[in-house]
Amino acid sequence: MEPFHLLIDGQMTPGSMTMDIVNPATGKVLAECPRADAQQLNDAVAAAKRAFPAWAKLTYAARRTMIHAIADALAARLEEFASLLTSEQGKPLHEATKEMYGSVAILKMLSNLELEDEVLKDTKTEKVIRHRTPLGVVAAITPWNNPMTLLMVKITSALVSGNTVVAKPAPTTPLTNLRFAEICNAHLPPGVLNMIADANDLGPLLTSHLDIAKISFTGSTITGKKILQSTADSLKRLTLELGGNDAAIVLDDADVKSVAPKLFAGAMLNAGQVCLAIKRVYVHESQYDEFCDELARLADAAIVDDGAKQGTQIGPLQNKMQYDKVRTLIEETRSQGTIIAGGTYPDGAGYFIRPTIVRDIDDNARLVREEQFGPVLPVLSYTTIDDVIERANATEYGLGGTVWSADSDRALAVARQIDSGTVWINTHMMLHPDVPAGGAKQSGMGVELGREGLAEHTQSHIIYVLK
Ligand code: ADP
Repeated sequence: MEPFHLLIDGQMTPGSMTMDIVNPATGKVLAECPRADAQQLNDAVAAAKRAFPAWAKLTYAARRTMIHAIADALAARLEEFASLLTSEQGKPLHEATKEMYGSVAILKMLSNLELEDEVLKDTKTEKVIRHRTPLGVVAAITPWNNPMTLLMVKITSALVSGNTVVAKPAPTTPLTNLRFAEICNAHLPPGVLNMIADANDLGPLLTSHLDIAKISFTGSTITGKKILQSTADSLKRLTLELGGNDAAIVLDDADVKSVAPKLFAGAMLNAGQVCLAIKRVYVHESQYDEFCDELARLADAAIVDDGAKQGTQIGPLQNKMQYDKVRTLIEETRSQGTIIAGGTYPDGAGYFIRPTIVRDIDDNARLVREEQFGPVLPVLSYTTIDDVIERANATEYGLGGTVWSADSDRALAVARQIDSGTVWINTHMMLHPDVPAGGAKQSGMGVELGREGLAEHTQSHIIYVLK
């Protein structure tokens, strides 16, 4: 494999240190990765700061042209990137390929948006205009579950609206991002996008850096809260996309054979390591047994293997820490519910866990209350709609949720009462670059995507003109 570099001030730069990146399907070292020190982080921020005035002065159209060129160059290397993504992240190649198509689409569609001046008032005597100005240097901090698409959302929103960026991928999945930085470097002026990699040690330095104007973060709620605290000194702007414990509510008229596979896919996508994955399923008591049996059948039939192998449906957990966490949760669940599928760990050095379905579990069990972020799904029974809505909302999270029914009006009435940023009816994980998404309660602050997402990368600048 060609060596990887950091991107600082238009130079592909070796790290001051290196670290090994592991393929989670084999447990073996996949590549050596550069690791930045504090000085390199400071250099990256300084470069972004220097590049900001000229970048901010360009038109949206000029910035868009460069971002589209990056998208085209990425599209031309889609297979190479998908394969590298599978090797470092673990997800099956078909999911990695989808993530790469999504990345190209985000770069293009999100950069097609533009925040024009708005006239807020226009009378005989005065005119009031809202003009939006970019903020400065944006820190883009991303997790290891969807390394490419999440980076694309952050950098496209920041760059097209006139900000410069220092990006920091998660320590276990930096490779696709660093390879992508090479493409960006061929199309952007020096310093506009910088990328460093760390061993989970540079985040606090970046988020407290006085020359960072905004932090765009996706990751766990615990880390999100730490970041929020670190912004207080300089009142940095902040977008946080955090954890979720999304409920799927299945109404009593749902068709078991067609809905169960969608629930299963929504829970097991990326081995359950998706903030918006289905984390709890509530089924009406009249259909409880049938749904449990069907979900268990799907789990038993699922092919769990190295994502690089054809036919694999579920890959390994992304890293050892997450694997250990999910295993502990499953072991704890044995005494709190009935495991009707999975609950086993295939032999070998990879971080594999068979998809696990748990029934007859109490709402107070940790598997129901906390975000499992792994291939383990609790299935719960309910009697009345009011009861299930209350239970679905009884969580500090509020990211997403789904409602399943043959009657979409009935489902809509339920969806309106779910306390979350997004709800899907009879589908899951549809996200459009031009539609905003964000979390309620402790699932986040602010939104990403859409014009609203772009607006969060700008200062609202009001100009009064006396006629
Ligand atoms: P996880 O616990 O699953 O690894 P995190 O939310 O901690 O997820 O990590 C998401 C991203 O946040 C990673 O890029 C990680 O390096 C970074 N990070 C971790 N701790 C901090 C911190 N205190 N400040 C800023 N970024 C951090």
